[in-house]
Amino acid sequence: MIIAIDGPSGSGKSTVAKALAHKAHLTYLDTGAMYRAITWRCLKHQVSFDDTRAIIACAQAMKLVMKSDERGLRVEVDGEDVSHEIRSAQVDEHVSQVAAVPEVRLLMLEKQRAFGQESDVVAEGRDIGTAVFPHAQVKIFLTCDAAARAHRRAVQRAGGDLATATEAHVSPDEEAAILANLLKRDDIDSHRKTTPLKAAKDAHHIDSSHMSVDEIVAQIMQYMNESVSHDGSALNAKDQRSDKASFDTEPTDSSSSKDTDSSACMPHATCQRNSFDSYYDTPMKEHPWYARLLFACVMVLCWIGTKILWPWKFYSMPSELLRSKKPHIIVMNHVSALEPLMCVMYFYFHGIRVRSMYKSEFNTHKLNAFALAVAGGIPVQRHTADITCIHRCENALKRGEWLLIYPEGTRIQDLSVKPKIYGGFALLAARAHVDVLPICVLGAYSIAHAPRLWKKVGRIYFKVGEILSLDQLKQQVEKPISKKQLMQLLETSAMDRVYTLREELMQRYPHKL
Ligand code: C5P
Repeated sequence: MIIAIDGPSGSGKSTVAKALAHKAHLTYLDTGAMYRAITWRCLKHQVSFDDTRAIIACAQAMKLVMKSDERGLRVEVDGEDVSHEIRSAQVDEHVSQVAAVPEVRLLMLEKQRAFGQESDVVAEGRDIGTAVFPHAQVKIFLTCDAAARAHRRAVQRAGGDLATATEAHVSPDEEAAILANLLKRDDIDSHRKTTPLKAAKDAHHIDSSHMSVDEIVAQIMQYMNESVSHDGSALNAKDQRSDKASFDTEPTDSSSSKDTDSSACMPHATCQRNSFDSYYDTPMKEHPWYARLLFACVMVLCWIGTKILWPWKFYSMPSELLRSKKPHIIVMNHVSALEPLMCVMYFYFHGIRVRSMYKSEFNTHKLNAFALAVAGGIPVQRHTADITCIHRCENALKRGEWLLIYPEGTRIQDLSVKPKIYGGFALLAARAHVDVLPICVLGAYSIAHAPRLWKKVGRIYFKVGEILSLDQLKQQVEKPISKKQLMQLLETSAMDRVYTLREELMQRYPHKL
């Protein structure tokens, strides 16, 4: 389960998130601390805050370790404990400027999402519900009156504790300076180009000005329970004491480690939520039993049906490849809806799960979305840098699932026009350390474009090409080339192979398209 808490500086996010993490046994993720750590490192290495390249280099070279325990969050930069230093006024002064650099954000995004992969998380920041975890089960946007926020920060800095309402002596001048800094940061955070501070559309708004920490935590727990019961997957916590994401709705002392009672509940399995997102993130072999059964039945029926109507065949598939089960990215030409089905089926009956990337427009109907999710599809928002999709595909490959990509982007309607090729699969190959398998299809175009119904019956052929790998290409090029050029080379070589295979098949079956 992921809980996203966003809001402006000093709205109480950290205090609330820490208390919630403690109470609901979630991992606490302070994303602001990450940007603070980079800022601290820039200050240490005297990097100019006007030099974006230097900031990026500084962020890339940083070795960041964040550990959360009962004593709080420990932040280590390059082996040095900087938990206290990153909260200084000097860091406050520059952190929003650093956080506005898109490359820095992308770097941090990967780290933040890795947290969400590993455990149940309560993450706080500015873009958690909108960009880092857009599929979080509960999203909160915490606001608070600006003067109250400045007072809280001043109290914290003077050694007071908001969770236990311990006050400390604060000078009015200091409070005024903190207020000015908060407003300046809010302004930069809300107006930057990349993932600015804003509430997600489905976020619950909580004004913390007149609420205690316990009240806010209780309110969020209420939303958590509602979200779980809404999914119909709530279980009684008494049966789940050993699981870590249990939580209750009683406002209690946030420092207490009291266990939960019968009102507590938690999701039973990742795949029982009401959205289909969990299907994309869970291994296909671990989908709920009914989804796997449904998929198996459809595969068997489609196998029989398609073998009768369009007897199809795969040529030159190396048998050791099927036996090794090492994941690959399959790239193929795309002319109809038949070839993805046949490809997925072929591998399914060889014990390999292939996930195909499909355009997110197909998800407009819930039934479609469900069918595609059960079949292992992963939606992609075309014409955008869909980081969620990249992340999902990468994880699927790392889990041992194969990926089917159509670099032509959509079904080709006119074979006389050379299609535009959408890159990106080489990046995935590099990130997941897998090779690319080119395959071509012939015959499906004739069937899809047949003018008469009876002509829509005929044979379909697939031909498998030689595997391409980045390492192999690197050795083949005569002079050293950049990583980007190497990836471009992989993409063009893979698609050239697909089209060469197609020509070879066309020579063998001249009447097919
Ligand atoms: O939450 P905190 O005040 O520690 O965050 C410090 C700064 O880090 C913020 O002012 C903001 O500029 C940046 N930040 C961000 N996105 C996040 C978290 C923090 O831009 N998710």
